[in-house]
Amino acid sequence: MSAHTCDALVVVCMDFRFQEYIRNWTDKNLQGKTFDLVGYAGATKELETVYQQIKLSIDLHQTKQIVLMHHEDCGAYGAAGTYERHVQDLHKAQAKIKTEYPDVQVDLYYIHLDGEFEKIS
Ligand SMILES: [Zn+2]
Repeated sequence: MSAHTCDALVVVCMDFRFQEYIRNWTDKNLQGKTFDLVGYAGATKELETVYQQIKLSIDLHQTKQIVLMHHEDCGAYGAAGTYERHVQDLHKAQAKIKTEYPDVQVDLYYIHLDGEFEKIS
């Protein structure tokens, strides 16, 4: 079996309302790159579950950049889905990845309902 490597992994919510925004973002920001894609309700909300997918991408494809995207009005969070909660969960996922894979770049985004991507630092 030949080795195959991937530039990035993008983790998003399954929510159909955001897929076109996400496609446009990856077309522009990951142009010419290869990327794995995970779509799961709430993106990294179920962190232990989604982390297994992140781990597989890094271990199998030597992925060097992970992009985690949460979004406004996420049904997986319901009323608990405040902006602060999303930022907190994004940071939690980033910290978990960085603990095991310190050399992997982890970028965080919050997508607004109007399609604006807010980079979370
Ligand atoms: Zn969602």
